[in-house]
Amino acid sequence: MNKCAPIALASIIVFFIGSSFSFAQHLISVATPSGQISILPEVAKLGAGCPKIGSISVNSGVVIDAADICEPARWRNSNKPMATCPARSFPVLGVLFQGRRDWVLAESVVLSKQHFHLRLFGAMEDAHGDRQDIVAIKRVEWCTANASSPSRPELPSDACREPRQFAVAFDYGAPLNNKIFINGFSFYVRVAGHPIDGFDIERAGEDIRSSFGRALTIWTSGLQDNNAMLTPTIRTFIRSRTSTTAGGYTLLTSPQVVQLYCPHAATFIVELNFGGDGTFPNSSLFLTLAKSRLVGRTISLNMRDVACFRTMPEMTNDQVALRDDNCVNLLPVFTHELGHAFGIEHIPSASGWALMNPVLSENATMPTRLDVNAFVSALERSVTGASPGELEFREASGLQAPSDWSFGRK
Ligand SMILES: [Zn+2]
Repeated sequence: MNKCAPIALASIIVFFIGSSFSFAQHLISVATPSGQISILPEVAKLGAGCPKIGSISVNSGVVIDAADICEPARWRNSNKPMATCPARSFPVLGVLFQGRRDWVLAESVVLSKQHFHLRLFGAMEDAHGDRQDIVAIKRVEWCTANASSPSRPELPSDACREPRQFAVAFDYGAPLNNKIFINGFSFYVRVAGHPIDGFDIERAGEDIRSSFGRALTIWTSGLQDNNAMLTPTIRTFIRSRTSTTAGGYTLLTSPQVVQLYCPHAATFIVELNFGGDGTFPNSSLFLTLAKSRLVGRTISLNMRDVACFRTMPEMTNDQVALRDDNCVNLLPVFTHELGHAFGIEHIPSASGWALMNPVLSENATMPTRLDVNAFVSALERSVTGASPGELEFREASGLQAPSDWSFGRK
């Protein structure tokens, strides 16, 4: 069972009835990853996992028992007469969970093989949990004249809820063969072992978010800067993400990153590893800063031996500091590990400087031609990769600190 990070949720109920959305035009809520089945109040999309795939109308009064989701012919109609609504009404979904009496109101329900993802109605929150906890889903007509707000939803006790995330032009679509590289990334911070007293996990999450985003920009810019090395598919992808301003400046929009507070919908798990589970062996001769699942979605940071990772500002001429007096720069470390996640193996130091050399070096904190070449092949490969959270190191996929770095919390 997945546990949520404890988060304080303001109990502010935000109503967005009709079209009274007040968000900036392009700020859209981050979608949950595509599931097998997605249900909106008026239409259900049955996907993989159902014998018949397609869109089905969800009519007024429909009740869908969990076991019958794939079989629209078996959907029931609640014969309850609808209460008259003196104002406008619009459809929402009601979801009933095991052992609960009240229906939870939702704007949408996405079901993956194991999980449900609810966009809660009346709260800017999403909820996630085990799919088998759902008993039934129905269409409900919500009357805008309802004085009372929807009651606090009766979710299963092990469900996880989090504030809804908003980002510009964000989606989880996969534009290339490599399905790990997608249009929008989301991550969940998992803690392994026991953090030292006073460890600021929120600050760590912020540093990860910023290094993650910049690492994506660094890799994507590497492609843009080496147009001649690209395949036609990747060249088209880069062109689709590049715009030129009236002044002649080109702007590259790299995939975005949001931090989630429930693991269920995250496309990446970033682990803060405080030791004890053997991920970073004690006896190792070298200081391994981080590891990642090669062709996967899990990155583990060695918090036992590195007291502090920080995203440090880039200096001029693509120069990046490896560390300061107190902290290791997370940016080059994360950029390297993300390379492994995409499927890039180590580039031996004997071949030349590269971000993907096995040892961190200030000579290669940005992608070199060797890196770009390896990245292009990785992106062209048809790979699905391991699921987020699967951390099993079959190959050397860590990153060693320079040999003159002393062990210990520096
Ligand atoms: Zn490595």
